[in-house]
Amino acid sequence: MKSATLLLCPIWLILLSASCSPVNQKKGENPYNLDLVQTKEVYSALVAQNPNNRMVDLEKAIPGITLDIRYATVNNFTGKVIYTEPKAFARKPVADALKKVQDSLATHHLALKIYDAYRPYAASLTFYKVYPDTSFVADPKKGSRHNRGCAIDLTLIELQSGKEIPMPSTFDDFTARAHPDYPNLPDTVLANRKFLFGIMEHFGFKHILSEWWHFDYNGWSGYKLMDLPFEDLKRDI
Ligand SMILES: [Zn+2]
Repeated sequence: MKSATLLLCPIWLILLSASCSPVNQKKGENPYNLDLVQTKEVYSALVAQNPNNRMVDLEKAIPGITLDIRYATVNNFTGKVIYTEPKAFARKPVADALKKVQDSLATHHLALKIYDAYRPYAASLTFYKVYPDTSFVADPKKGSRHNRGCAIDLTLIELQSGKEIPMPSTFDDFTARAHPDYPNLPDTVLANRKFLFGIMEHFGFKHILSEWWHFDYNGWSGYKLMDLPFEDLKRDI
């Protein structure tokens, strides 16, 4: 049966499906013995203890939000599909704060575009294997604030057209242009970056020292690192 299926499947289709399938991440890998949430049972118990631990689907919390989840496509620095699907989750207070950002942006005829939100720890391990430079990729010995559901990668778009407004670089540009203080930019770009930092800070986020698109939610250290796949979170345990 198997060989018959293979004969019917052209070689280009086999190659295409291999390159477009998510990278085979070994769920449960914890080489640095981190305090990781790896089961639905532990996650459910944490949510029962404190509802702020809930991972919220940003498309449900912020209707109409634009997602461009690059790690669910080959259009990212690894050149590989990392996520099984283009989903964005964040802890409840983070999602609530992003909703306030989105509402406030609307008064400026702008909106958010999300590149990445919660990232399972297994994906962080994969990133480090592909790009072992902790200036841009989180050190797997510590885990990422994305693994805690408390970091968001984003930019701003025009509310009507959905067009990105000019920023210093593209997402995951690992050059000096990504630095939040990079100076050699047109005035409009400098103003856009300053506006983005201002509005995010107003609603409880901080930008970091290496990437203009990355924001940590204040209080991130109170949330555990997680390695649950999106499939488990979608069911709203
Ligand atoms: Zn980030």
